[in-house]
Amino acid sequence: MSGETGIIIVGAGECGARAALSLRENGYRHSITLIGDEAHLPYERPPLSKQVLLDEAEPKASAVLDDAVLGAQAIGHIGGVSADAIDTSGKRLILSDGRTLPYGKLLLTTGATPRRLPNAPASGRILYLRTIDDALALRSFIHAGMHVGVLGGGFIGLEVAASAHSRGARVTIIESQERILKRGVPEPVAETIAALHQRNGVALKCGATVLAIEADEQRVGISLSDGDVILADVLVVGIGAQPRTELAAQAGIAIDNGISVNECMETSVADIYAAGDCCSFPHSLYGGRRLRLEAWRNAQDQGILAAANLMGAARSYEAIPYFWSDQFDHTLQIAGLVDEGRTTVRRDLGDDAFILFHLDADQRLVAASGVGPGNKVAKHIKLSEMLIAKRVIPPIEALAADANLKSLLPRAA
Ligand code: FAD
Ligand code: NAP
Repeated sequence: MSGETGIIIVGAGECGARAALSLRENGYRHSITLIGDEAHLPYERPPLSKQVLLDEAEPKASAVLDDAVLGAQAIGHIGGVSADAIDTSGKRLILSDGRTLPYGKLLLTTGATPRRLPNAPASGRILYLRTIDDALALRSFIHAGMHVGVLGGGFIGLEVAASAHSRGARVTIIESQERILKRGVPEPVAETIAALHQRNGVALKCGATVLAIEADEQRVGISLSDGDVILADVLVVGIGAQPRTELAAQAGIAIDNGISVNECMETSVADIYAAGDCCSFPHSLYGGRRLRLEAWRNAQDQGILAAANLMGAARSYEAIPYFWSDQFDHTLQIAGLVDEGRTTVRRDLGDDAFILFHLDADQRLVAASGVGPGNKVAKHIKLSEMLIAKRVIPPIEALAADANLKSLLPRAA
């Protein structure tokens, strides 16, 4: 490895780890250092609300990068240390342990952190979920017969509810909106998920806001606006996440609902890039609309793109937004941006499964959302993603009926 000042990646999560690997795959020959404030090697977060809570056997973090790969790829990892400041003119990074590291280029993949509940008492029974340590702490509370309160009917709340209920716990979800998954998930899909939870015995309280929370050594009491008081053994709070922008803001980098980057993942400061949950970016497929996505595949794709651009590729981010969520035996998947749609066409797939095609004012397919048991909607979402990327205007009758979506793709010239 040459002694030239190399690339430092701040944030050893999905995005940072993928970027480091991708730099080597692309032939980057200088030093790569991955800095993470968690005391673990990079690991996958999606299992934290699913297998880590569900599995009977003691779970382990599922590694994105292990020591063998780090060694083989000559990627340096500094764990349990945070990057506290950037000296942008001197191109140096200042770490919490007092070290100062010079960088040639810097990639910020600092992710997001759970939104905290204001005015909640400090209690070991009020939990958030972002890290493997959070997941193991929550897991230790989940036993048959105990009562798990869940605040927030978003993805954390619903996945934790499904996992805890499957392990024999009694679960109550409290959501302030009139329905779960209000943001970004169409009503019919959310209704199917709500019915799935209720069928399995999860109590769902929508339209109820929290007036007060009290906690003692044994229990948490949640007083609601409808007069109800929920007494739970533990309360899991899943009320959204906020991008971690503090390091970028300190360095004077532009912030706009996350660290603001251009389509090539470059921040407002030369030689500093950002990617993943922490950044907002313009998406060319949606007329340059600025987005910030909190999804696993986006973190991977942007890490890979940032790696190419750190090496001078100057490629734009054009991937179709996509995410999935597993709850009980169902999977929900969404490709594209549902709120870009003006009309919806539904196709039933049988067995409680269906897909919604979302069309814009020009009848162009801009998103597809689906839910159903197992992998029932996966193929349709995959093909919809290809149709969205090709900006196809599909015949509505073909979407509603059984037509093979593949046949709607433009033929290669
Ligand atoms: P992160 O994974 O948050 O990594 C950022 C890292 O940077 C963290 O380790 C953080 O501690 C560290 N860091 C921050 N600031 C500093 C600093 N100054 N110095 C050093 N280190 C720093 N998405 C899906 O599409 N499907 C799913 O089913 C799904 N399930 C999920 C389940 C859970 C419980 C969670 C929490 C998320 C889930 N996601 C899912 C979302 C997905 O995991 C995230 O979008 C993805 O992890 C984002 O990756 P990232 O690298 O951008 O950020
Ligand atoms: P989320 O999906 O944004 O959902 C938060 C939910 O809590 C929303 O329904 C929100 O309603 C509600 N809420 C907000 N403030 C509230 C309050 N004070 N009281 C009660 N409810 C309130 O966020 P999340 O579920 O907390 O997830 C956090 C992060 O983990 C995100 O980055 C998410 O992408 C990630 N994650 C993803 C998956 C997945 O993709 N499968 C799974 C788990 C976690 P409003 O919409 O009205 O604010």
